[in-house]
Amino acid sequence: MNKKVRVRFAPSPTGPLHIGGVRTALYNYLFAKQNNGDFILRIEDTDQNRYVEGAEKYIIDTLNWCGIPYDEGPGKDLGHGPYRQSERKSLYKKYAELLVKNGKAYYAFDSAESLDAHRKDHEQKGKTFIYNWHNRLKLNNSLTLSPEALQTKLQKGDPYVIRFYTPQDEVLHLKDIIRGDIQIDTNILDDKVLFKSDGMPTYHLANIVDDHLMEISHVIRGEEWLPSLALHTQLYDAFGWEAPKFAHLPLIMKPQGKGKLSKRDGEKGGFPIFPLSWGNSVGYREAGYFPEAVINFLALLGWNPGTEEELFKLDELIKVFDINRVHKSGARFDPEKTKWYNHYYLQEQESEVLVNFFKPILTEKLDKELAFNPDLIDQDDYIVNVISLIKERASFVSDFWGLSAYFFQTPISYNEKVVKKQWKENTPALLSKIASLLEAIDNFSSLKVEEMVKTWIGNENLTFGQVMAPLRLVMVGDLKGPHLFDIMALVGKKETLKRINLALEKL
Ligand code: GLU
Repeated sequence: MNKKVRVRFAPSPTGPLHIGGVRTALYNYLFAKQNNGDFILRIEDTDQNRYVEGAEKYIIDTLNWCGIPYDEGPGKDLGHGPYRQSERKSLYKKYAELLVKNGKAYYAFDSAESLDAHRKDHEQKGKTFIYNWHNRLKLNNSLTLSPEALQTKLQKGDPYVIRFYTPQDEVLHLKDIIRGDIQIDTNILDDKVLFKSDGMPTYHLANIVDDHLMEISHVIRGEEWLPSLALHTQLYDAFGWEAPKFAHLPLIMKPQGKGKLSKRDGEKGGFPIFPLSWGNSVGYREAGYFPEAVINFLALLGWNPGTEEELFKLDELIKVFDINRVHKSGARFDPEKTKWYNHYYLQEQESEVLVNFFKPILTEKLDKELAFNPDLIDQDDYIVNVISLIKERASFVSDFWGLSAYFFQTPISYNEKVVKKQWKENTPALLSKIASLLEAIDNFSSLKVEEMVKTWIGNENLTFGQVMAPLRLVMVGDLKGPHLFDIMALVGKKETLKRINLALEKL
């Protein structure tokens, strides 16, 4: 029988999550859900020096905002907790000692200074010092000490680390779902520290012990951990445990294509790197992205469905995502594409919902003096209508005001270039005539107004441009905006006439 799928996202709380980390969480989540498995959050905080206050909360808030909450983790103990490694501290030592007992690891007493001296000495000879088969029998460890000397040192409490004993002259056959089979010559590996002199495990030991105890079936993580795979595979063997399956995800690359996407790229290019704001760095959420957009673009950074399709919501991703189709090579990040996705998901939102996002901006931007009807700001129906007319031109709610100010304020200035081109000698006469036509309309609907104006243009043998361009200019202050008659109908007859008369005075 196949083991139950259990995957984990195992960030270290050393700061905010980079979007690459969010993608790792997402792929884990998708894989868990499509296999009716469990998605676990484990906080890898064994390195107390790098611990950053607030980082764990940030990670959890991010998963929740993205809509990919964990099934098991801090605060949700389903029998495999605790899920913070700092709270599992007491657990690791016995596993390190078990390896020593089985000859798979050894105590090393070398001081930082002596190791440094060895390194320098090697450098001078143009060599690199590696703590492994090459040197270990010349160093200060339980392989070279007599049993008595070792006991004395341990009893005295001399500081030590526990190192993994890497075998010599072996070829390891590593397996990765995405990268296939990888062969590694053990002679190039160093005897990594598993347990530190401060009584804490290193990442490697804690990670393997926890993955085993938490019954993790698949390890899906970033490519930067691929170099650790040799040690991790050997550790599973050394413990006699069945290893999980591994999948190392490709890096996310700079927009230019070369090199890993960094915080600086975001600063230079003016796009977020973090899902939520952190310090001075604006996050995707605060920049006005919808979580659906972030999920969608992240899913396609390193994977594709094998078709041209690129719009997927979370529930669809759960169905179509395929870990076997994740690419080996880095995925180029495209900030423009993220906006394209947000544009799409903005259109998907009901205008009734968008009102709630827009209102605070509207309240801030609206100039009460220029507002032709200050009450409009409280009339949700009106704002819904405005949003419905302009949203297809917007990628973010923050674009709304720039696209819709004239629905709330009477334009008091006009685009000069347009005036020069469109405001002809006969324009005032034409607009005055239009004004009197409009005056007579009772039912001031878009269709009705359109019909009247167009019929009149036809009867007078005028061109559309002669009338429509200046009319738009007086309504909007520019040649932009949605269907002109929709604008006129929405602001209403009184305001439309006011705008025509104001322009006739001013231009
Ligand atoms: N704590 C590691 C990190 O910060 C976890 C790596 C892994 O998933 O094994 O990414």
